[in-house]
Formats: sequence, structure tokens, C-alpha cells
Amino acid sequence: MLEPTPTAADAVTRVREFVRDEVMPLEPKLAGGSFRDALPHLEKARERARAAGIWAPFLPREHGGMGLSLYDYAFVSEELGRTPLGHYCLGCQAPDVGNMELLLAHGSDALKKRFLEPLTKGRIRSCFSMTEPDNAGSNPVQLTTRAEKQGSDYVITGRKWFTSSADGAAFAIVMAVTNPEAESPYARASQIVVPTDTPGFRLVRNIGVMGEAGSDWASHAEVQYEGARVPQDNRLGPEGAGFMLAQERLGPGRIHHCMRWIGVCERALDLMCKRAASRMISPGKPLGTRQVVQMWIAESRTEIHASRLMVLSAAHAIDQKGSHGARDEIGMIKFFVAGVLQNVLDRAIQAHGALGLTDETPLAFWWRHERAARIYDGPDEVHKVALARRILRGYGLDVR
Ligand SMILES: Cc1cc2nc3c(=O)[nH]c(=O)nc-3n(C[C@H](O)[C@H](O)[C@H](O)COP(=O)(O)OP(=O)(O)OC[C@H]3O[C@@H](n4cnc5c(N)ncnc54)[C@H](O)[C@@H]3O)c2cc1C
Repeated sequence: MLEPTPTAADAVTRVREFVRDEVMPLEPKLAGGSFRDALPHLEKARERARAAGIWAPFLPREHGGMGLSLYDYAFVSEELGRTPLGHYCLGCQAPDVGNMELLLAHGSDALKKRFLEPLTKGRIRSCFSMTEPDNAGSNPVQLTTRAEKQGSDYVITGRKWFTSSADGAAFAIVMAVTNPEAESPYARASQIVVPTDTPGFRLVRNIGVMGEAGSDWASHAEVQYEGARVPQDNRLGPEGAGFMLAQERLGPGRIHHCMRWIGVCERALDLMCKRAASRMISPGKPLGTRQVVQMWIAESRTEIHASRLMVLSAAHAIDQKGSHGARDEIGMIKFFVAGVLQNVLDRAIQAHGALGLTDETPLAFWWRHERAARIYDGPDEVHKVALARRILRGYGLDVR
């Protein structure tokens, strides 16, 4: 238990070599966060990943992937996380990966042919459009975007923001209220596929985040749905099942994120140790001779180790019990590993001094991009509150 299976060990070896030889050398193309400049190089790396038979490790073989279980994929996701470009180069970047899983599980044959097939091949990109600027995203049952039935269509009206990767996406999966009268607020919304060339889909702007405007797959967009009309057949799953599907999507998604963060932490710790061993703070005295730096290294190693064990255990639980059965484990890793990520990055940057703030290492990139880890897919507090309430229920206290 918690060791890589032979399948995972083999995949990790192949992916590690690929990341070292083909992906890490592309990191300088990212300097200053210029994804547009990096993209042509990344497309070539994607071709090489396909040729090497390591494309889309999480996807079933019949869809062109490696067919790994969630548990096995967790190990691969860590390897890919060691570079900011890893997941994109193997076709498993968010939000596409979650959207593929949704289409696979709940898309009609027609939706699979039109959207899933090109998405799995990396020919198109997609986005997931749930959060709204006017409503608290941490309590998404308050959605106001509506999808009203007109004949055999839905007509969608509302405003979303932080629709990541909308810039250049071919379609969005939109969470919209279809059943406002449903008694349970969790039964009011549905997930609907909206091609971005639908009249009424309007990308208002790319939202700058932590000093970077973002473009293409690294963008976060505000999107206005102005009477966007799509067939009801574009709905995923039954009407009103939007939240159930979102929960299903976010379980494995949190494993992907957390293992990617552990990859980030491993690389940051490696950089910190190299710097500690080589940077002379006085003649003959490298930085690593100082106890405070030794504390940073020991604490980081311990926190990473604990994180990995927790995430692998959660992946195993999802494989066995599904996302709902494993919701405690999923909640715990989401806030715990996001916190470890911030700690380890902060220590690594501190150990590098001014160099840590430059784009000469990936640390500053991650610092800008990964502060969001404590907010997206549910802020820390929401996961903690939900976990505590489930625990308290066992003591007869039902907090609502
Ligand atoms: C980089 C990034 C990418 C994203 N990508 C997407 C995407 O692709 N698609 C999409 O739909 N959304 C996306 N989001 C949005 C994300 O899901 C929301 O930001 C998140 O759900 C929080 O919602 P909010 O920002 O409205 O914060 P709010 O709901 O306004 O909450 C603000 C703060 O209040 C606190 N808080 C909230 N609830 C509680 C509580 N019960 N108890 C105690 N404290 C609480 C938390 O500290 C929280 O951070 C993205 C966000 C980021 C930052």
C-alpha cells in the first residue's frame, strides 16, 4: 500500500526521462509568463510525448491514453509537476482533464464525437464556467446564471468569471440553473456544453492574476452569456445533476492538483538544497551550515512526505469508494497540501535571496501561480468547515 504499482513505476521512469530531456529545457521560454511564445515549442513536445507513448496518462487506452488508474496516475502527476509545463506537454492540464472525465462519463455519443475526441487528441482546448463575480464561489448553490428552455434548446444568460483557459477554448462546460423550483439547492443547476463560437458567448476580458495578464491556457476570463442558445442535448447527465457531476469531477481533480503541487515542492526543495550547499555566506561556509536553513530543509522534507502519503491514500480511497465515499480524505488533502506548497515555496525563495524573486528559477513563477491553490476548487476554510461538521455529526451536533 502507498508504493507505486509496477505499472506506475514503469510510467514514472518514462515520464521522468521525458520531463528531464524534453520539457525542463523549455522552461526559459516561459520567462516573464509569456505562454504565447512558449506554445509552438510546447506543441512539438506534445508530438514527442505522443510518439513516446506517454500521452494523456489518465485516459483509457481506447481514447488514446495510457489507461492508468487514479492511484497510478498520481505518481505520474507528481513527476509532471516538477516543471510548470509538464501537464500541458502530456495533455493532462486543468481544466481539460476534468472536462474529458465529465464528457467520458456523462456525454452523449454525439457530444463525445464532437468535443471529447478532438480534446483527447489535444486539437482543441476547453474551459469550465461555474464561478460568478456577483456570488460567493465558495457557496456555488447561489448561482444566478440561468438556462431557460425554449423549444428543444436552452438559452443561457448570466455572467461568469475565472473561467480558466476560456481564451482560445473551443467550448465551455457551463454550470447554469435549469430547475430554480427544485427544493434542494443542490438540484437546481445543470452542466451544459456551450461551443465558444455560439452567438451570445462573449469573452469580456482576460483577468490579470498576480501581475500576469495570462493568455491561452494560462488565462482566467470573464465571460458574458447573452442568450447563448444550445440544444438541450448538450446537457451532461440528468437535468439538475450539475452539482453531483461537479463533485465527481473535483474528487480526482484534487488528486491531480495535489500530486502536481508535491512535484512543485520536490523541485523547490531540490533547488533549495543545491543553493544551501553552494552559496557561500562567508568564506568556506555555505548557507546550508546555518541551522535555520537546516530547519527549512527538514521541515520541507517531512511535510512533503506526509503530503504524498495522504494524497496516495486519498487516491486509493477514491479508486475503492468513489469521490463521495472519500470526501473526508479529499477535503483533508486539498487544504493540507496547498499549505505545504506555500511553506516549501516560501522557504526555497527565502534561501535563494533576490535570485528567488527572478525568473531564473521556476520558483517565482510558482509563487505567482500557486498562491491560488488555497482558493480554487474550494478555499481552505470551506474544506475545514465541511470536515469539522462531518466529524461533529458523529458527536450528535448537526451544524448548518
Ligand atoms: C487561479 C484561479 C483559477 C480558477 N479557475 C476557475 C475555473 O476554471 N472555473 C470556475 O468556475 N472557477 C474558477 N475559479 C474560481 C474559484 O473556484 C473560486 O475563486 C473559489 O470557489 C472561491 O470563490 P470566490 O472567489 O467567490 O470567494 P468567496 O466565496 O467570496 O470567498 C472568499 C473567502 O471567504 C472565506 N470563506 C468562504 N466561505 C467560508 C466559510 N464557510 N467559512 C469560513 N470562511 C469562508 C475564504 O477564505 C474565501 O477565500 C478559479 C479561481 C482562481 C483563483
